[in-house]
Amino acid sequence: MTDADAAPCSVGVVVVAAGSGTRLGAELPKAFVPLRGRPLLGHALDTVARLPGLAALVVVAPPGLADPTGPSWAGVDLPAGAVVVAGGASRTDSVAAGLAGLGDVDVVLVHDAARCLTPLEVFERVVEAVRRGAAGAVPGTALVDTVKAVDAQGVITGTPDRASLRAVQTPQGFAREVLVAAYAGGSAATDDAALVELGGHHVVVVEGDPMAFKVTTRDDLEHAERVLALRASTWPGGLPD
Ligand code: C5P
Repeated sequence: MTDADAAPCSVGVVVVAAGSGTRLGAELPKAFVPLRGRPLLGHALDTVARLPGLAALVVVAPPGLADPTGPSWAGVDLPAGAVVVAGGASRTDSVAAGLAGLGDVDVVLVHDAARCLTPLEVFERVVEAVRRGAAGAVPGTALVDTVKAVDAQGVITGTPDRASLRAVQTPQGFAREVLVAAYAGGSAATDDAALVELGGHHVVVVEGDPMAFKVTTRDDLEHAERVLALRASTWPGGLPD
């Protein structure tokens, strides 16, 4: 075992849950929409709470729902010591608010509450890659569809080589100082790795998982319901370790 293998590593997690979820068409913000009777956020936190080395947790909630004693939080087991902060207008603003509420940790993971069924193993792969020296690590999956670049009129302008593309998920993990510096730059992006890449850092892709899909539409929510129903019938006492 090398020193890098043995290095202890404290992990801070920012769970962003402040999106409105317009595409889901629900009355509540997406992270608070029930999935088998509990908010999506509660399912996401079940997994985060089991993460080895978890030293700090910040949940970023919509400004109107940032009180964890409110009724929308029913069924969310907020792990001891977790902090709730209010998010912003964009995901980037929300992550920045979460980072500001996080203490001094070695590795920061940023996770979408909407990816509420992401397996623990994905979190562990991301942490391990950063612990072994990567500036950042993101889970990704190979594409099954061919992808086209198009112009404003919908005319195809290129066909990137599918083999070199990955669809990326969360949690995305970074050495804390790298992510803080990336967010200090003030740019906006749809994922955290993009900001870190802008700073010239190497971000690696680790194996993602189909269960890390993002709940965006009604179909996604129904898919998540079916997955949980199947699990409940297969393992009535809960998922095996
Ligand atoms: O909108 P989208 O599904 O891409 O959002 C991804 C994640 O970012 C969700 O978990 C959502 O709650 C969060 N988000 C946020 N603040 C925003 C927009 C999105 O925390 N302003």
